[in-house]
Amino acid sequence: MNICMIGTGYVGLVSGACFADMGHTVHCVDNNQEKIKKLNSGECPIYEPGLNELIKENFRSKRLIFTSNLSEGVNKSDIIFICVGTPTKKNSTSVDLNYVFKAAQEIKEISKKRKIIVTKSTVPVGTGDMLEKIFKNRKKFIIISNPEFLREGDALRDFRFPDRIIVGSNSANSFKIMKNLYLPLINKGAKFFTTNRRGAELIKYASNAFLATKITFINEIANLCEKININVEDISLGMGSDVRIGGRFLRPGPAYGGSCFPKDTKGLVSIANKERVDLSIVKSVIKSNHNRKYLLLKRIDDIFTKNIRNKKIVFLGVTFKPNTDDMRDAASLFMIPELHKRKALISYYDPTGEKKEFSSLKKCSYVSDVNKVCKNADLIILHTEWDEFKSIDFNKLVKNKKFTLYDLRNLYSVEQMRKKKIKYFSIGRTEIS
Ligand code: NAD
Repeated sequence: MNICMIGTGYVGLVSGACFADMGHTVHCVDNNQEKIKKLNSGECPIYEPGLNELIKENFRSKRLIFTSNLSEGVNKSDIIFICVGTPTKKNSTSVDLNYVFKAAQEIKEISKKRKIIVTKSTVPVGTGDMLEKIFKNRKKFIIISNPEFLREGDALRDFRFPDRIIVGSNSANSFKIMKNLYLPLINKGAKFFTTNRRGAELIKYASNAFLATKITFINEIANLCEKININVEDISLGMGSDVRIGGRFLRPGPAYGGSCFPKDTKGLVSIANKERVDLSIVKSVIKSNHNRKYLLLKRIDDIFTKNIRNKKIVFLGVTFKPNTDDMRDAASLFMIPELHKRKALISYYDPTGEKKEFSSLKKCSYVSDVNKVCKNADLIILHTEWDEFKSIDFNKLVKNKKFTLYDLRNLYSVEQMRKKKIKYFSIGRTEIS
């Protein structure tokens, strides 16, 4: 099949490369010319394990084409996937659909024959209906919802071995086309689930809100564990062993972040508000997650008995999760500027390099070597659970100084740190001071 991905970001690029690898010819279109230039010169614009190799292979075999020319991509393709961003509107909780509608308008203007248009972007219920209105004078255009569930950091595996493929459409014929497209994945065991278009749109928001609820729930239980001397990991394991609950997304940590959960929980509440439905659970998840940022900050204040000025605070990892360079809504985006305001001296190391998000902070510096960044630290905050942070000899790296380790991902055990005589705080466990 000939496919066009509009938007070559985390979703469009991964899906496009994987579709090409399944044997389809894929035009990846992006209006960010810098991105297209990079891709055409063999450089992957995002960090995602395995993606660079996959792109190179399929680019060489001419199944993967990168272009800023929408007309070329659209007119050579039968199926067009809209994979543009759907961020939260500024000063509001509702979803900004401008990128989606702009892309649709452009497709309408340049497409010469019948097209199948699929929203892979996460879009509020009823967006497909609105797109249908845009194409109302175009005969036989089909609008399908096919939300994407890949997770950054595991994106290739998630795309190639999905639990389910959700296709929402009001036309029976489109299920056949989509099933055919995804057949190699269905043959490997992916469930092909069909519903109407609005149903598919809601499945995506409801799924993300549910996962965010699980994380927030265990974060609150972790707060309780810290007060009553119980190890939260025992609770996660004990709860998660019940197949009705399941162990995934029951690991406590900082406030959830990333490009999906924060915006999709808000988006879902906004969708419900319009219908005058009170999603009180999702609302309290958003509130609890917001409060968590302040709670962790208060703990840091307490570590220094509020005297943070000129203390050297080191962040290990700043992205919202490991194996990605994505900074969207990472907890560090709140914590670092707040600590900077308190006149702390911040240094950070991240395996995906320096971040422009902190470049305006005077006393915040990037150190490109994990072995050097910890030197003379007063506090090390283990923010992201990259593998390379799992076996650090902190005493050796910090050198002769009394320091504290605040492990937001519970990568180390309390016992290990006690033996090493390191002042250690983690999440939902007994503290050593
Ligand atoms: P992204 O910001 O990484 O990529 C979007 C891309 O679209 C950008 O490169 C941008 O330049 C391009 N773009 C915008 N308008 C365009 C236009 N008119 N023509 C061509 N290109 C255009 O976003 P993302 O993280 O890939 O997310 C895309 C959608 O997928 C969102 O709705 C998101 O909620 C959803 N989603 C994301 C993830 C994830 O992990 N990132 C997972 C599942 C679903």
